[in-house]
Amino acid sequence: MHQGNWTCSVCGGAITELPFEPRSTDGLMCRDCHSKQKGNTSKPNNHNDRGDKPTFSGDWKCADCGGAITSLPFQPRDTSNLKCVDCFKKSRG
Ligand SMILES: [Zn+2]
Ligand SMILES: [Zn+2]
Repeated sequence: MHQGNWTCSVCGGAITELPFEPRSTDGLMCRDCHSKQKGNTSKPNNHNDRGDKPTFSGDWKCADCGGAITSLPFQPRDTSNLKCVDCFKKSRG
């Protein structure tokens, strides 16, 4: 163990002991934060990238065919020109 007087970059707590000699005092983590980060294996950008796209439920109307739209893969800003999946596909060719 190496004794010192460092500060945890995550929680700001004092670190007095480290299992290694830190080369840089930037980005040091106390034991608590370190174990927390280890336990959190999922990366921030890794939310269900396997085709499980997020859908937004709502009660919209297709501007093309007038059909009901109950879910969209995005949150519509302008609901006056929404298209259902069918019309959307058609408009794309
Ligand atoms: Zn910490
Ligand atoms: Zn439609």
